[in-house]
Amino acid sequence: MKKIGVLALQGAFAEHEKCLAQIGAKAFLTRLPRELEHLDGLIIPGGESSSIGKLINDYDLAFALQSHIVNGLPVFGTCAGMILLAKQVIGLDGQFLGAMNIVVRRNAFGRQVDSFELDLSIPVLGEPPFHAIFIRAPWIENVEPEVEILAQLPDGTPVAARQSNILVASFHPELTNDTRFHDYFLSMTERREKCKK
Ligand code: GLN
Repeated sequence: MKKIGVLALQGAFAEHEKCLAQIGAKAFLTRLPRELEHLDGLIIPGGESSSIGKLINDYDLAFALQSHIVNGLPVFGTCAGMILLAKQVIGLDGQFLGAMNIVVRRNAFGRQVDSFELDLSIPVLGEPPFHAIFIRAPWIENVEPEVEILAQLPDGTPVAARQSNILVASFHPELTNDTRFHDYFLSMTERREKCKK
């Protein structure tokens, strides 16, 4: 059984835990640097990126997270998790983990339309569209060539992407009953050796 950590500092970690149980993975709520050892993968959930970022610093987690990610630990950031993983964030001072070569715009959809749902075509997940729930979501504004865009809004804006062992989504797959995104992440943990740069 794969051991998947879910960063449990703030935000939607319980929902990811349920999702992982549905696909037969063992979830470990993770808060301390030593708890990152021996994981097959890690999910950084949605929530409030500034709060999670502050807690990452308070718990002395930034360096440990960065080292594990550089060493190939598969990591999946949803919404605020994507913001935390990005190299550059528009709408926030500085960056947090700076692990992925994307520029992300925080609260990109503005206040009035800050939550919406949309069926998205995500070819790596197969044919049926994926019901995506956006909650005060960021979007991806720019990607480096090594980043593969996995999903786009109808206007072409990227909202899910992968760079080697790092997977991100603007939306919340853990809030639906469709486990295909988590299954895809689990398949990344199976190919961990190949994911290493
Ligand atoms: N707006 C939040 C932020 O900037 C992200 C929202 C979410 O994770 N659902 O951190």
